[in-house]
Amino acid sequence: MSKAMHVLECRALGKDYEQGKQRLQVLRNIELSVQRGERVAIVGASGSGKSTLLHLLGGLDAPNGGAVRVMGRDFAEMDEKARGVWRNQHIGFVYQFHHLLPEFTALENVAMPLQIQRLKNSEAAQRAEQILQRVGLAARISHLPGELSGGERQRVALARALVTQPACVLADEPTGNLDRANAQQVFALMLELAQTLGTAFVIVTHDMELAGRCDRILRLTEEGLIAA
Ligand code: ADP
Ligand code: MG
Repeated sequence: MSKAMHVLECRALGKDYEQGKQRLQVLRNIELSVQRGERVAIVGASGSGKSTLLHLLGGLDAPNGGAVRVMGRDFAEMDEKARGVWRNQHIGFVYQFHHLLPEFTALENVAMPLQIQRLKNSEAAQRAEQILQRVGLAARISHLPGELSGGERQRVALARALVTQPACVLADEPTGNLDRANAQQVFALMLELAQTLGTAFVIVTHDMELAGRCDRILRLTEEGLIAA
């Protein structure tokens, strides 16, 4: 991979929602380039379109205009199946609510993206265990989500996002549901993993103190994404 290539890029991105006869313009003129291992915070008012933007960046929704490129490939040039494969290989997602499957252990939840990639069970389990160790949960691999604390559940969700060794993790208010101490810990872990694994992180947060620890802060406004 050339050093100059951005892991994630979008150009002139726009998104409208149709609401009956109304057209709601949510995003316009969004420009973003994220480098390998870079940690970018996105802040903005509630309803400004932060979640919508992350969906577009992850290829979960299509823009009305502009382009998103992940690892040099434009989502619009792929069919649905290819987009799904590309997303599974190169992007990880973390949400405010962990979205772990309640009847599966931490290890099984983390191994799931590798099983989607049709890795052998033993290989998937081994890699899931390694990344659970990296997030400090070696002693919790057999726990069900209901048997974990809120901070531990988010760390499992982080491990699940990282197990495929994606180029970029898109995190939508990943600490929004945690108390201060756990929010600090999970955020610090993301920043550290970005450095040690070389994974870029785009993190939506309301917390300016946490945002301030990232390499850059961008504010989502009606004019676009602007340096804050
Ligand atoms: P944020 O994450 O910054 O709070 P969102 O991206 O969730 O903002 O939403 C941005 C705007 O788009 C809001 O006004 C919201 O009501 C609207 N919106 C979000 N999703 C949809 C949808 N599927 N259909 C119509 N409007 C939507
Ligand atoms: Mg949101």
